Amino acid sequence: MTATINSPIALPKPPIKQAKLYINGQWRSASDGKTRPTISPITETAIAEIPEASEQDVEDAILAARHAFDDEPWAKMTGHERQKILTRVAELIEKYADDLALCETLDMGKAVYFAKTIDVYLLADLFRYYAGMAPEIDGVTRLVSPPPEHTPKHVTIVREPLGVVAAITPFNFPLILAGTKIAPALAAGNTVIHKPASATPLSAIKLAEIFDEAGLPAGVYNMVTGSGGRVGDRLVKHPAINKISFTGSTEVGIGIIRNSADTLKKTTMELGGKSANIVFADADLDSAIANAFFGIFYNKGEMCSAGSRLLIERSIHDAVVDGLVNYVSQIEMGNPLDPEVLFGPLADAGQLQKVMQYVEYGKQDGATLRYGGERFYPDGTNGKGYYFQPTIFTNATNEMRIAQEEIFGPVLTVIPFDTEEEAIRIANGMNFGLASGVHTRDIKKAFRVANAMQAGTCWINCYNVYDVSVPFGGYKASGFGRENGKEVMENYTHTKAIWIDLS
Ligand code: NAP
Repeated sequence: MTATINSPIALPKPPIKQAKLYINGQWRSASDGKTRPTISPITETAIAEIPEASEQDVEDAILAARHAFDDEPWAKMTGHERQKILTRVAELIEKYADDLALCETLDMGKAVYFAKTIDVYLLADLFRYYAGMAPEIDGVTRLVSPPPEHTPKHVTIVREPLGVVAAITPFNFPLILAGTKIAPALAAGNTVIHKPASATPLSAIKLAEIFDEAGLPAGVYNMVTGSGGRVGDRLVKHPAINKISFTGSTEVGIGIIRNSADTLKKTTMELGGKSANIVFADADLDSAIANAFFGIFYNKGEMCSAGSRLLIERSIHDAVVDGLVNYVSQIEMGNPLDPEVLFGPLADAGQLQKVMQYVEYGKQDGATLRYGGERFYPDGTNGKGYYFQPTIFTNATNEMRIAQEEIFGPVLTVIPFDTEEEAIRIANGMNFGLASGVHTRDIKKAFRVANAMQAGTCWINCYNVYDVSVPFGGYKASGFGRENGKEVMENYTHTKAIWIDLS
């Protein structure tokens, strides 16, 4: 090895102006001065000290958001005025695309290539799309048929913002999942408090800088970093918050529903998944293999919608598995800051431990470890970093832990099947219902299977494709409510019926 190869990876400084809370249009440290380091999974080194918001800070953020909603013009502005500001946000996202992508890669190990071409691209799209919708949040007029003895009435149903929305987001798509909540909530005239995941605060800080520069009025958007148990819990229980928009694990989501019940909050729950991707013998195998690969190994498997159960018709099982192994073995893995690299380290130490634990479960339960299953260390990391190989288990059954539980990492569980009915039974034989895929050249079979899937999304001959206009969300333990599309406005507005006596 050359000296260059062995020289340690030097991480660039995070491209943020300051690691601070953003409350009421001001940057500030935690009131009690507490911070915690954010660790880059690329080298396991601390890259910034992030404030841990105190109860007082959270209280201040809630007061600011409340005041901005109740007493300031945001909710009462015309949709066109909100549209202008949100369009400016989209333009600034594009201006700072490199910085946003770098934050994401440094913090959670996402390949910088994807961070820029997918995450930042979609984030700008989200703000443009909902900026466009801001002037169109209108109501309807209904003809009503009251009993004959009543005088004639006319009813106008208008949509109004809910008030203060708390957006609580996970670590795997920090920017996109913040945007899916914040953009429609603001477009509808709500004010927002965002709590990003503790593992990935950097891009939330950069986004707050963008809101600041875009000229969002003070208090309309606030960002508080800190732990779920402290900051998140306070937001969930606080009576002045009207709505919790949550994306994260099913376990935490259930706790949030319980904890928000006393204050009767509206909630949207985007939770875990364990999606089935079905390949029939009549599929275009090259395309199915590529889709199976990106279905599970995109974003290192840290995807709620990951096609983590690959169901393959028995007659083509070996051909598909061989093709997939061949595909995986060619993937560029390593330092995610390298624009050629598509597969970097897992987001944090906890994720790595969890993945390693499930690889052990897979072996104990009798599945065959066909590929991967080990940590690896790219050049320049000197035995550091949370890198784990893409891993494929075959000879699995749907009852195994690796088939039933969300691993949220690069571990694929392959299950053979013999008939369409069996494939549907296996796919639906599970608690989660987020996404699904089906690969076949038979269009009738494709629709039959798609209609039978107990999941919020079914991709036919593709996988993991998204558009801001298409609603996304789960069945069963994968949650409720939808994000993206116009449907999401249901989550951020309520209706008011205004009756007029025409007699
Ligand atoms: P997580 O542990 O559930 O955390 C999600 C967020 O909730 C974090 O900001 C976390 O803060 C916060 N939190 C934790 N405890 C809380 C509490 N008691 N009260 C309020 N907030 C609390 O999830 P994660 O590990 O970050 O993300 C992975 C999970 O997200 C997976 O299950 C994945 O499937 C799911 N996900 C779902 C979708 C979807 O669209 N359905 C999309 C992406 C991810 P801390 O970080 O400080 O703990």
